[in-house]
Parts: sequence; C-alpha cells; structure tokens
Amino acid sequence: MHISNTDKTRSIEDSMAIQIIYLDMDGVLFDFVGSVTKKIEQLPEIDLKKPIHKWFGMSATKFWKYTDTMEFWTNMGLYPGVKTLVERLNIKYKVYFCSTPTLCPYSVSGKLFAIQKHFPGLHRNFVFTPAKELLVDNNTIFIDDRFQVTEKIDLMIKKNNCYNAKTFLVKRAWNRSQNTFEDIVNMLTR
Ligand SMILES: [Mg+2]
Repeated sequence: MHISNTDKTRSIEDSMAIQIIYLDMDGVLFDFVGSVTKKIEQLPEIDLKKPIHKWFGMSATKFWKYTDTMEFWTNMGLYPGVKTLVERLNIKYKVYFCSTPTLCPYSVSGKLFAIQKHFPGLHRNFVFTPAKELLVDNNTIFIDDRFQVTEKIDLMIKKNNCYNAKTFLVKRAWNRSQNTFEDIVNMLTR
C-alpha cells in the first residue's frame, strides 16, 4: 500500500490531537430504565430484540407519555460512581454528553438541567441528536449502552475510514457487552 506524504502528516496530526469522547446519557450515566420503572410502577421484561416500550407491554405512544415532563429528565438518578469516572475521562479527553432526545421538547430542557446539576464543569459540553453517527471523525470515541447505536456508528467509522475512532458498549441487562463503564474508563485512561 502506498502512503502519501499527506496521509503521513494526517496520521501524525491525528495521533497528537486530543480525542473527543461522546458520552451517552441514558443507560450509561443516568438510570433511565430505573426511573421509568418507578414511574410506571411495573417491572420490565427485558428483550434485546424489542424496543423498550414492548418491555412494558405498551404502545410507544403510551410508554413515552410517562416521560413527557421536564421534571422526569431533570430528576433522573445517576448510576453510582459515574461522576468520578467522567472526571477521570475528562483529564485525558474532551468529554461531550451526547444524547438523543425523545419527541417531547421537555426532554431536551430536562437533560440540559441534569447536566448543569450533576456536571457543572461540563455544562456547555453537550450534543443532542438522534444521528450520533454524523459526529464520527478520526479522533472520536463513542460510549453507549445500545448496540443499535454503536452498530450505526461503527458502520460510519468503516465507511469514512476513521481508523482512530472507536465505540464502546457499556454492559447492561439489554446488551451482551461484558465491560462495565468503569472497565471502559480504566481501559481508556491507563
Ligand atoms: Mg443510552
């Protein structure tokens, strides 16, 4: 394979650039499933192949109605220990919260409030989008809990030949990953 000088320069620049971590909120930092379970007062039957509303035996419209207040998103609980883990990541990388809002506009404001409340030092570091894959470039790392999301990002990484970009799937009951968020932070910061 022929490597041009432009490619060489680019690869040196890429290896020196500060990497950006796009950190998913619900299911990685915030216990969305726990909060919604409390609100609905019904335990979910988790099924990897089905969308979340089906875990509760509901239509999508009925399910998402439970989350249609700003308070729901603002007051969502964090998973234990995540604040320290985000701080550790932010020493070595530039951390951005990257979250897909629901169809309800209050979810965006609520998520923003939650960032300001729990992560005041990173209160301007956010991207709200349903198309996380559009953020892919060579120096990006994505941490998410849904394989449907990491799969899409991985496809974009391949398509654009972003050989430095990576995705990490955080172990949850709704995926097959073996790595906890702490394991991933340890890998990325050692
Ligand atoms: Mg998520």
